[in-house]
Amino acid sequence: MQKGKIGVTTDNIFPIIKKFLYSDHEIFLRELVSNAVDATQKLKTLSSFGEFKGELGEMNVKVAVDKKEGTLTISDRGIGMTAEEIDKYINQIAFSGAEEFLNKYKNDANAIIGHFGLGFYSSFMVSKKVEIRTRSYKEDAQAVMWTCDGSPEFEMSDIDKKERGTDIVLYIDDENKDFLEESKIESLLKKYCRFLPVPVVFGKEQEWKDGKYVDTDKDKVINDTAPAWTKKPTELTDDDYKNFYAELYPASDEPLFWIHLNVDYPFKLTGILYFPKIKSNFDLNRNKIQLYSNQVFVTDSVEGIVPEFLMLLQGVIDSPDIPLNVSRSYLQSDSNVKKISTYITKKVADRLQEIFNNDRKQFEEKWDDIKLFIEYGMLSDEKFYDKAQKFALLKNTEGKYFTLDEYKTLIESNQTDKDKTLIYIYATDRTAQYNYIEMAQAKGYDVLLMDGQLDIHFIGQLEQKLDKCRFVRVDSDVVENLVKKENKDADALSAEQREIMTTVFKSQIPAIEKADFLVMFEPIGENAQPVIITQNEFMRRMKDMSAMQPGMNFYGELPDSFNLIVNTEHPLSKRILSETESACNADVAPIQAEIKTLQEDIEKLRDSHKNKKDDEIPVTEKEDIRTKESKVDELRKQEENLLATYAGSNSLVRQLIDLALLSNNMLKGEALSKFVKRSVELL
Ligand code: ADP
Repeated sequence: MQKGKIGVTTDNIFPIIKKFLYSDHEIFLRELVSNAVDATQKLKTLSSFGEFKGELGEMNVKVAVDKKEGTLTISDRGIGMTAEEIDKYINQIAFSGAEEFLNKYKNDANAIIGHFGLGFYSSFMVSKKVEIRTRSYKEDAQAVMWTCDGSPEFEMSDIDKKERGTDIVLYIDDENKDFLEESKIESLLKKYCRFLPVPVVFGKEQEWKDGKYVDTDKDKVINDTAPAWTKKPTELTDDDYKNFYAELYPASDEPLFWIHLNVDYPFKLTGILYFPKIKSNFDLNRNKIQLYSNQVFVTDSVEGIVPEFLMLLQGVIDSPDIPLNVSRSYLQSDSNVKKISTYITKKVADRLQEIFNNDRKQFEEKWDDIKLFIEYGMLSDEKFYDKAQKFALLKNTEGKYFTLDEYKTLIESNQTDKDKTLIYIYATDRTAQYNYIEMAQAKGYDVLLMDGQLDIHFIGQLEQKLDKCRFVRVDSDVVENLVKKENKDADALSAEQREIMTTVFKSQIPAIEKADFLVMFEPIGENAQPVIITQNEFMRRMKDMSAMQPGMNFYGELPDSFNLIVNTEHPLSKRILSETESACNADVAPIQAEIKTLQEDIEKLRDSHKNKKDDEIPVTEKEDIRTKESKVDELRKQEENLLATYAGSNSLVRQLIDLALLSNNMLKGEALSKFVKRSVELL
């Protein structure tokens, strides 16, 4: 029997392990099973090189719970250890600055374990005593037992053990009794060991017999030792990929695409990433990718390793080169990890390009589902943008798909305006904007459908990236103005007529909550509609963007600003003008004349004050201006009242406004029912 002290510089590491590693206790099982798997694989390797000549036999790792004894045992038939090896690998854990480091990372068991190579010692997080019973594969090796009760003292003695390999026996402590529950151990094994390369046995397969489940003789293997990502892509069929996906995410729909990752240099990485089918925003679950290190599950939070935009993908990544047992902040600054992220981005882009090239039809069919990922990638990653701009698609309101280049060619001749700016016309809602889409199409324009969650941002990006271009929503202006081909000259109305018509229309717009209207005039031809409602592109976009950004409430609080555009060339608006003039001119003309005179007077007075300092201007003249101004205001009100009263009696005005509102889906409630009644009367 040998007694000794474990070689740590801090007096007693075990209380520290127990005290500080209160989170993540469960990873001890991962560490011990991984050690057992390593020992097994090492022996297989030795055997294949002829350095071990004995029988390998069954090489499972067995996990067993003994409730009576209060033990959990992990057994393997791997290389085992001699007494010297235990001394070297287990006893001499030397490290310095331990306490400082432990304090810093006390909530990150992974970091601590990784830092010290304390895999085995993590067993003390849950045990009051640990035994190692081991026999080396070497011929005539003497089996040994090492025990330690959680103090730095250990004991080591020779034992009788026939079988090659190692049993790690944990005497579970009172606070951690749940690790003696079979269901708990089984679920942990399924979490961490599901894809380990050596069969892990836990209990027996069961069968239904005489009204209950009973154990059979057959060992229950809890893992799949050769998961799809460890195989070569050429060995796998589409069904293999789909089946593996179903194994990972049992309740999900079939994936849209997958990407098999496989690199050796400058780092080792394998894996399969899937593009999931997203049914709603609710499904947008980041952190579905699982990270493995040599088939040992490490984590499913992959920030920093996988590029942000690809965190919406699913699947597995396996790399022994990612320093897994370190803290997140360290990970993010690791240069290997950065390379991995760049590599994955490139690989995903290349794969999408390949599918696009080989099977455009399939690519188009799935576009609506993958567009979110791709736009997100293009928006957040310059390199990805550069690659993706070759296969990213635009979809028009007819359901046809175009690449950015194809679309440019399509619209170039008809949608370039007088300033040589290419105008992309888009709709965000095919139903609500139906009327506008139809008008644009009648003019020979193509209308894109931009109804995705990220489209508003994507539009902004395209405006920056593409040659001189602008995106305008189909209802942002009258169709004649969407693509301005020439400078329209002089408008058909005099200033007085404008004043009249503005009041006539403005006074009759029904009150709509959170909507403001500006009355404008456009000579857009007698065949175009008489009154059209449009929404300013800039203001609308600002509002849409702010709706997505918390804290940018300023624009969100503003009412929507609409333009009510009166087509001055339409016979009906001409009729309204002439009817109004003949009904009101007798009263209005004198008022307008008076306003004109007053304004000229004010103007003259102002002119004469131009080069004078304030105290040089006679008080009487200042007074005079003020009186005249308030007189103008008063007259204006008078004029407006006159016109508004008249407009209220002219049902044609209301009818035209309501029709425009109706085709914009804005006529509701009382206003709508009034419209219906009025329409019947007019008929
Ligand atoms: P790490 O696995 O990171 O090296 P551990 O503390 O888990 O750190 O293990 C230390 C060493 O002890 C291992 O490198 C290995 O040489 C030896 N060892 C641990 N478990 C076993 C086992 N089941 N069979 C053989 N050797 C083992």
